[in-house]
Amino acid sequence: SKAKEIIVPFEMEWTLNDAQFFVPQRLPKDSYRWQFVEDVMRKESAAYGFKEIRTPVFEHTELFARGVGQTTDVVQKEMYTFDTKGGESVTLRPEGTAGAARAVLEHGLVNDSLPIKASYFVSCYRYEKPQAGRLREFHQFGLECYGTQSPVADAELICAAQSIFDRLGIKQLRLEINSIGCPTCRAEYHKALKEYFYGYKDELCETCNSRLEKNPMRILDCKSPVCSKIAQGAPKITDYLCDEFIEHFASVQKYLDAAGVEYTVNPTIVRGLDYYTKTVFEFVTDFIGAQGTVCGGGRYDGLIEELGGKHLPSLGFAMGIERLLMLMDKQGIEIPKPSTCDLYVAVMGESASLKSFEIIKAVRSCGLIAETDVVGRGLRAQMKYADKIGAKFSMVLGDNEIEQGKAVIKNMSSGEQTEIVLDDTFAEKFMVLQLADVDSFKL
Ligand code: ATP
Ligand code: MG
Repeated sequence: SKAKEIIVPFEMEWTLNDAQFFVPQRLPKDSYRWQFVEDVMRKESAAYGFKEIRTPVFEHTELFARGVGQTTDVVQKEMYTFDTKGGESVTLRPEGTAGAARAVLEHGLVNDSLPIKASYFVSCYRYEKPQAGRLREFHQFGLECYGTQSPVADAELICAAQSIFDRLGIKQLRLEINSIGCPTCRAEYHKALKEYFYGYKDELCETCNSRLEKNPMRILDCKSPVCSKIAQGAPKITDYLCDEFIEHFASVQKYLDAAGVEYTVNPTIVRGLDYYTKTVFEFVTDFIGAQGTVCGGGRYDGLIEELGGKHLPSLGFAMGIERLLMLMDKQGIEIPKPSTCDLYVAVMGESASLKSFEIIKAVRSCGLIAETDVVGRGLRAQMKYADKIGAKFSMVLGDNEIEQGKAVIKNMSSGEQTEIVLDDTFAEKFMVLQLADVDSFKL
């Protein structure tokens, strides 16, 4: 077998780090995998009434600083921030919510009928340490729901995520939920947390030590084994919630029960972003190593106000598409491979090539996939290519066939041969042949 030739463009060193951004799963031969996943996400969320939104890949840095929150890891350490030629500071989006929220505000959608339900696919950029399941460029699918404070919306959002995972055939995904109240009830809780964690000051990691004063809740989110062990004994937010939030959280659970969605209440789930209030949740798996959270979300009632709008209770989630694909791979979930070529027309000579152009155009307009030689290969090499791309049928066109006005179509798997006239009924007749073959598969 031939050694694979790998070319580093212009011998530039940065391409050697490509793996940080570019995972093999994004190549054309694998596209059916992410297209399948995205298709399920699109259809399933449409069934819940969400419509797609597309937002810019970069925004003013200020938007993320306010929307994601100054004290978050994302804003403090992970953003790709640049100055433009005009001297403005812009940032490649690290997540999808802030951009969607800006669109809602700037287009006055808050004056339409509420809630506003939006879905999105975005590429995200975070300057993190690259590792399995943690890339510097990755993709998220997310849902946003603006303008409702009802716990029914929280439950519906979680159900939508669960439906997507079910449709994808994913198993053994834990849903963990929590309520983190609002800034008011959190103040009392922060005090209790600080007191508790100060007792372990010397054991906590450096980052957590710096979190002690400003944002002790983040310590609950720390991935270091020592910190997470200590966090297990920490006071629980649920003991500090105001009555209103206790009721809200209980109601969310009641609706989840009604929908038959299984969950556990995990008081250490706090989410990484500042704007969260009340309900927070994560879908977690043990199948893909340390980066096991495939979906995170919750309520962010203060976000729209923080961005200059009126008070508009809102919620949403985001799931990592690369992590999901990894998980499906690990669980051996087979993704249906779509047909790659229905008809390959091999040609000999220019007049045959011209005729094939006509024929495959008609075949393609019937919704089938057809290819002919665009390289200038000899007949044998063309047939080898047809085999390689998995063509279901092939046909050879030469001067003879054109003279006689008919050609032989070969079923590549059964070897069966059928003659078809090369007139304007060709595509129709090929269609019938092709359908008969599909039917014989079913029988
Ligand atoms: P983590 O705790 O893993 O850093 P996070 O809290 O930063 O996650 P979110 O901002 O909530 O993650 O993003 C939602 C989802 O996007 C995550 O659950 C994960 O599936 C995915 N995700 C986040 N960061 C990355 C990354 N660097 N590479 C790949 N996927 C990611
Ligand atoms: Mg993170």
